Amino acid sequence: MSHDKGAQARKICKVGCIGCGICAKQCPVDAITMEDNLASIDPQLCTDCGLCVEKCPMKTIKGENKQEREAI
Ligand code: SF4
Ligand code: SF4
Repeated sequence: MSHDKGAQARKICKVGCIGCGICAKQCPVDAITMEDNLASIDPQLCTDCGLCVEKCPMKTIKGENKQEREAI
C-alpha cells in the first residue's frame, strides 16, 4: 500500500506499486484510479478481465477476483 514515489518504493519493496499508471491506462472500463502514487481499483466497475494483473510491471496487483483485487 506504498504511497512513496517509484524510485523510493522500488528501493524498499520488490513488488510494491511504483505509481506508473500502466494498469489505469490499460483498464478497459476505467476502474483504476491513481492517487498519491498508488493504484486503486473500484470493484463496482471492475469486470475481472485480468489485464491489469498481466500488465503491471511489478506484479503488484494481487487477488483471485475483483472483490479481492488490490495494488499492494
Ligand atoms: S481486472 Fe478489473 S481493474 Fe483490472 S483491468 Fe480488468 S476491469 Fe480493470
Ligand atoms: S499497480 Fe502496477 S501497473 Fe499499476 S501503477 Fe502500480 S506498479 Fe504501475
